[in-house]
Amino acid sequence: TVDAAWARNWITTAAEVLAEHRVELINLDREIGDGDHGENMDRGFQAVLERMGELPADATPGDVMKIVATTLISTVGGAAGPLYGTAFLKAALSAGAAPELDSSALLAALTAARDGIVLRGKAELGDKTMIDAWTPAVDAAAAAVAAGSDASELLAAAAGAAEAGAVATEPLVARKGRASYLGERAVGHRDPGAQSSALLLRAAATAAG
Ligand code: ADP
Ligand code: MG
Ligand code: MG
Repeated sequence: TVDAAWARNWITTAAEVLAEHRVELINLDREIGDGDHGENMDRGFQAVLERMGELPADATPGDVMKIVATTLISTVGGAAGPLYGTAFLKAALSAGAAPELDSSALLAALTAARDGIVLRGKAELGDKTMIDAWTPAVDAAAAAVAAGSDASELLAAAAGAAEAGAVATEPLVARKGRASYLGERAVGHRDPGAQSSALLLRAAATAAG
């Protein structure tokens, strides 16, 4: 079930996974950016972990997402901080005060997150950004709802699609963010934000069991 315990587990798992993949994300960002993405994400999620203790015992998934949003906005900086902050804030608003999210509520929250990133960063699919992980994830979530999948099947499908989307950024030229300054030189490198998005969504699926 995708409830408050899931949300806490998601964030703990995400913080662990981002710490484990810190160097990998730094190296991806070193190739086509300024090399700070792994550091930004690890620092941001360690800060989130520290703030989780402020949550009341009856906190909802939306409450957890809201703390993540405000913490990422204030600690991550760069391009990714405001983008992920907006994603978590829009997901929190979509989740509302529901104690548990079913498949359609999860699809709505994932869609709101993706739409928030687009609103903020104006990237389109194929611009070699985190949107190239999020949009396939949302599409897979919609297909899972249509197929009658439960919430944890939906998260697994979304994570798999995000991972494939991150890999699919490799041959692209970037049209947004620092990598867009490189033109053809960005070709052959995976977008770091797409990779961290895939890690976050995989953590969400892992937390749902
Ligand atoms: P910075 O580029 O400021 O150092 P990060 O390294 O933390 O920030 O994040 C870089 C990632 O942010 C990129 O890999 C890309 O996925 C994402 N990104 C950058 N600009 C945009 C945008 N306009 N829309 C969506 N994602 C973006
Ligand atoms: Mg960077
Ligand atoms: Mg930077």
